[in-house]
Amino acid sequence: MPGFEVRTRERVVFVDITTQVAAAAAESGVLNGVVVVYVPHTTAGVTINENADPSVRADMKLALERLVPQSLPFTHLEGNADAHVKASLMGSSVTVPLADGRLQLGTWQGVYFAEFDGPRRRRVLLSALAAR
Ligand code: ZN
Repeated sequence: MPGFEVRTRERVVFVDITTQVAAAAAESGVLNGVVVVYVPHTTAGVTINENADPSVRADMKLALERLVPQSLPFTHLEGNADAHVKASLMGSSVTVPLADGRLQLGTWQGVYFAEFDGPRRRRVLLSALAAR
């Protein structure tokens, strides 16, 4: 399965992986179809959002921390229950249309790996599927 590694250096961080996803899509040889970006982890996810103003990433972190604070009386013994919940809120995959081998993202969109229990070494898997 094609993919790449992401190394995170903070507990919670949004890493812009748009360039790696675009490169993998181009390498796949699929010109028209979709690319599925999948994160095989339970405390990290993937999402698409604005990549122009970095304050959007900071605001996403702030909002998720307010929604799901680490201090809630969770029962999961590992101590990272908030990270599991945040990962599910973001989701494990995104699908991006491909046309002429290029990601069809909007002008302000980027693909983000969402880390909630770093720092860690993570994997991102990609599948490019051709349209008929
Ligand atoms: Zn856990």
